Amino acid sequence: MSPATALPPRTVEEILTRAGRADFDRWAEQVIHCGHCARPVRLRGRVEHRTPAGERVSYSTDDEPDRVLLIRCGNRRAAVCPSCSHEYAGDMWQLLYAGAAGGRKGVPESIRSHPLLFATLTAPGFGPVHTTRADRSGGPACCRPVRGSTPRLCAHGQPTWCTAIHAEDDPRLGQPICPDCYDYPAHVTFNWHAPELWRRFTIALRRALARAAELSAAEFARRCRVSFVKVAEFQRRGVVHFHALIRLDGPGEFQPPQLGIDAAGLAEAIHQAAAQVRLTVEMPGGPGLVLRFGTQLDTQTVNGGPAGELTPEHAARYIAKYATKSADDFGLGEQRITPETLALLDVPDHVHRLVHTAWQLGDHPSYEGLRRWVHMLGFRGHFASKSRRYSTTLGAIRGERRAYRQRQAAEHARELLPAEPDTTLVITRWEFAGVGYLTNGDAALALSAAARAREQRQAAREAA
Ligand SMILES: [Zn+2]
Ligand SMILES: [Zn+2]
Ligand SMILES: [Zn+2]
Repeated sequence: MSPATALPPRTVEEILTRAGRADFDRWAEQVIHCGHCARPVRLRGRVEHRTPAGERVSYSTDDEPDRVLLIRCGNRRAAVCPSCSHEYAGDMWQLLYAGAAGGRKGVPESIRSHPLLFATLTAPGFGPVHTTRADRSGGPACCRPVRGSTPRLCAHGQPTWCTAIHAEDDPRLGQPICPDCYDYPAHVTFNWHAPELWRRFTIALRRALARAAELSAAEFARRCRVSFVKVAEFQRRGVVHFHALIRLDGPGEFQPPQLGIDAAGLAEAIHQAAAQVRLTVEMPGGPGLVLRFGTQLDTQTVNGGPAGELTPEHAARYIAKYATKSADDFGLGEQRITPETLALLDVPDHVHRLVHTAWQLGDHPSYEGLRRWVHMLGFRGHFASKSRRYSTTLGAIRGERRAYRQRQAAEHARELLPAEPDTTLVITRWEFAGVGYLTNGDAALALSAAARAREQRQAAREAA
């Protein structure tokens, strides 16, 4: 925390109280142990050793500061907990990198020879929005040039052009040029059905590949498996698009595909499949709507190939970064929206219209359940998901890390506790005591400790 930050007197008082306590060092140790988590879970509990000679408590949070143990919240979202989201992105990177480069986490190095692509599937347009553009030489260009010789106003008397060159942090980016022209129901409906569109894409992709290989669906399935990992990302305009690593495997564990399709052939099939996917959905009081992906589809080959192509490291980092973002960025938080909070939302007009459109759509029988996902602008899918055999699982990676921490904790405990050679049974009892730091002063202390730890790591890296 910078000395210039003015803290409320109450918070200063809480900091002084904490720092003056006899058990402050142990409290600070716990904050480090939970990785400076922004809102740790507080647990109360004990570890009992039952031996033939009787029962003995070997650890109890009764002896800890505030009688609790702090553990990580584990939240994926950077807006909720920078520390845990950083850890999540690291785990995600391990998973992605293993599947792209092999030679780790049980994935053989030969995986590098499989066709592997990084693909981005976007949403179509729902009306013109403010955007950044580049001119032919790559320099910044104006948002939306005037078309034709006489500038035309839209039906609402608004300009259909924007001659501004928007800076990266311009709040207008992603906002419609005319909100009344913008198709909000179609936008929300796309978010709501995006998981089904993705599912249909994976089916269409298998069909396109089978066609290219001139195989029946059954024969294709015997020779090739499409493995993927995908993440959903919210674009500035509040619509989801998907980034995915898509790889061709053969039958069995991480075997090469048994068909003559290379990365270029896979790219071709991805383009075909994405262009074909259609989903007709009901709209309240109107004709059905046909949903499809946008025409902006990007595929890049990962591994090998000519210089300038994506390395597995880059592809993994790119996707892992998106996995920690969410609709939090729109100022909606992670709580479900209720009729009470709906009226109080303090968000930009565009988000406000999206939220209200989603709320209204949720009243329609074919959009049952949508109201529970209004805070996600209608997106109910998983932010990150993968096919079963892409690589290892996040659970496995976390298990490894948990085992490591338990060993660390056990070592730590051995210094504190007497040896228990004849322990026959260890019983742990934990109960949930709450979430977050007890006071704003504690949170401020944890935040400044986190900043100090980051600086120290940075200095150590620079010295190395
Ligand atoms: Zn956390
Ligand atoms: Zn503009
Ligand atoms: Zn208009």
